[in-house]
Amino acid sequence: MPDNEEEPTSVTMAATCRTEGCPEAGVTYVVRMYPNATEPIYRAQCGQCDQPITDLVTVTA
Ligand SMILES: [Zn+2]
Repeated sequence: MPDNEEEPTSVTMAATCRTEGCPEAGVTYVVRMYPNATEPIYRAQCGQCDQPITDLVTVTA
């Protein structure tokens, strides 16, 4: 593992909205995210329903 602890490293994540009734529900977007200093470390918000996306999966290259 490279020693990158001094700089936040972006992570590729698959984000899927699970909000019932959302037009984007079940649609997975692959996005690059940067870790936050506080929990939750990774945050995403659906552009359609404005709800936080709970289904975040790290994509390993
Ligand atoms: Zn949504």
